[in-house]
Amino acid sequence: MSVDWSSLKGVLIDLDGVVYTGREPIPGAARFLGEARRRGLKFLLVTNNSTTSPEHVAERLGGMHVDVQPSEILTSAQAAVGYVRRRAQPGTHVRVVGEAGLRQAAEEEGLVVVDGDASAEWVIAGLDRAFNYEKLAAATRAILGGAHFVATNADALLPVEGGQMVPGAGTMIAAIKTATAVEPVVVGKPEPGLFEHGLQRMGGLAPDQAAMIGDRLDTDVDGGRRAGLRTILVLTGVTTRAEAAEANPPPDATLPDLASVTDLLWPK
Ligand SMILES: [Mg+2]
Repeated sequence: MSVDWSSLKGVLIDLDGVVYTGREPIPGAARFLGEARRRGLKFLLVTNNSTTSPEHVAERLGGMHVDVQPSEILTSAQAAVGYVRRRAQPGTHVRVVGEAGLRQAAEEEGLVVVDGDASAEWVIAGLDRAFNYEKLAAATRAILGGAHFVATNADALLPVEGGQMVPGAGTMIAAIKTATAVEPVVVGKPEPGLFEHGLQRMGGLAPDQAAMIGDRLDTDVDGGRRAGLRTILVLTGVTTRAEAAEANPPPDATLPDLASVTDLLWPK
């Protein structure tokens, strides 16, 4: 089956393993983004990381000579807050289990983040590296009291610099879920929420007008496909060529890196 790439209007691009690895930019990434801007292909750089802000991500990328605007970044915190905002008025009280990025995203969208004993209509949970029993108890109380439960993502582990893995947002989500027996709506990859939010932010594109570019089969490719997007797997991250060859169903394209995606979308 051949894919008509010329009809593509927008792409969602995963960051780690696609645009950079650790602190190192992946060659060809900056050129791809420049070319996308020049050709009018909309794009958003997406991350399941809910602890950081788009400003911070842009600054970090700038340090690698990949120049992007905060408005070109979509975090799972923004997507989770967007999910809530489509269902709740500004001024709605929310309880956040998470870090600065999630709190900031909620406040920017006009939600009121409550602490202490205050009641909340929503609990929005993500990675919180200061998670403790008190936060678990407060989130549990809110949900048992009728608050809706939304999670930024359910990643079990999170890679950190130096190749280590640390517990991810999914571990905190699981604790709250165990306490309440309430299943959260998970927004981040591979769930459709983040993809849907991305399509909306790219001017309301239909899923088939967009593609997801990522380095993981289980989140980027499966998630993108489930949301109805075309999928491009790049081999600059965690997936090996052998693993890619066994993927069933396969991505719409498997390419060495973003430089090759440039050549695929805009053949010379
Ligand atoms: Mg990745």
